[in-house]
Amino acid sequence: MNPDKRFLDETKALACIHCGLCLSSCPTYLETGNENDSPRGRIYLMRAIQDGRMDLAESAVGHLDLCLGCRACEAVCPSGVQYGALLEGTREHVEASYRRSFFQRFLRRVAIEKVFPFPGRMRLALLPARFARALGLTRVLPKFARDAMSLIPREMPALPCLPELSPTSAKEKKGRVGFVSGCVMSVMFQQTNAASVRLLNRAGYDVLTPRSQVCCGALYAHGGNLEAARSTARRNIEAFESLKLEAIIINAAGCGSTLKEYGHLLHDDSAWRERAEAFGRKVKDLTEWLLPLVPTLPQCFSGKVTYHDACHLAHAQRVSKPPRELVRAVAGLNFVELPESDVCCGSAGTYNLTEPEMAERLQDRKTQNILSTGALTVVTTNPGCLLQIRAGLEKAGAAHVRAIHIADFLESALSKVGT
Ligand code: SF4
Ligand code: SF4
Repeated sequence: MNPDKRFLDETKALACIHCGLCLSSCPTYLETGNENDSPRGRIYLMRAIQDGRMDLAESAVGHLDLCLGCRACEAVCPSGVQYGALLEGTREHVEASYRRSFFQRFLRRVAIEKVFPFPGRMRLALLPARFARALGLTRVLPKFARDAMSLIPREMPALPCLPELSPTSAKEKKGRVGFVSGCVMSVMFQQTNAASVRLLNRAGYDVLTPRSQVCCGALYAHGGNLEAARSTARRNIEAFESLKLEAIIINAAGCGSTLKEYGHLLHDDSAWRERAEAFGRKVKDLTEWLLPLVPTLPQCFSGKVTYHDACHLAHAQRVSKPPRELVRAVAGLNFVELPESDVCCGSAGTYNLTEPEMAERLQDRKTQNILSTGALTVVTTNPGCLLQIRAGLEKAGAAHVRAIHIADFLESALSKVGT
């Protein structure tokens, strides 16, 4: 390989001491038991490809594609291996150098990159799918299409866009924060975005939602298109940085980890590096910012409640305590821990579209774990997890178990006691 085209940071790759401590945290290794589907095996594959000891062939790409990018391995690695950064660099190389099938190219470069990051296009693209589902026409479709359509929420109330300024009416004003409305969130979970803003208002913050914000870039970065991710990062930095905010709040874990890592994404761009780092430092997950609300939350849930850790919150952002404290504050003794709470549900951005078989195995695993708790409510913090878990519960005939975003969960608790 041309040394100018080296895609792996050698120092980061060599940090792996092959101890294997990450293996039991890796969802794909748990499912297949194949070392090539483990973090250690994949790092070996990445280095072998870079060093020219292995061709970029279907088998190697298959093991790399099967990686969820959940970063559970990174969170437990004693050697500090930055697996997410290694994977991003490798995926960029794979997309530039490996020829995929026509279907995979269409899925990744057109459906995912040209539709999902644009809320208007996504709404239009979902119309025929929702229509077909409402008329029961999905039965005649192939399994792949049926599974994909099962993810679309049955109800998507059309609410007005969030105003650019949502002022607080709290007696004690604490300042102003920005709000990232997200692509999937603003199309499929508009009511959750509205609830998030109301919770921030209740906590004493004016909320600014600039219209000039764009997709966070996660879909591009995870798909190996780092240039497109950098371009969206620059536009978001411009949209928020002049607003003089205490923090930039996001309620979608997958977007949050990308937004927090803008400094890494633009590290080699000297004109933007410092601005990107400053932006990243301001980004907070909604649950981190709402933690002071804990003493004011009413304990008012009668059925058991459990919590699923979104990978990009628990592993990539290392935020697992704040959401638990918020859920526990409302659920009290009805809170029950979910076995394998931080094992990926199979959603992983658009993984359930590009790797449907493994996604379904992990969805079934998550569903069985949820049902084993006896919980009637499962709370989480990411739209992809919500869609995947809801579809899994419905498939298992357990539609009575409700999967709900933490913002809706907290707001419904507050509305029950009329505070
Ligand atoms: S835990 Fe870290 S050092 Fe050990 S095998 Fe996994 S990635 Fe390598
Ligand atoms: S990112 Fe997740 S799926 Fe990929 S190697 Fe690490 S633990 Fe396994």
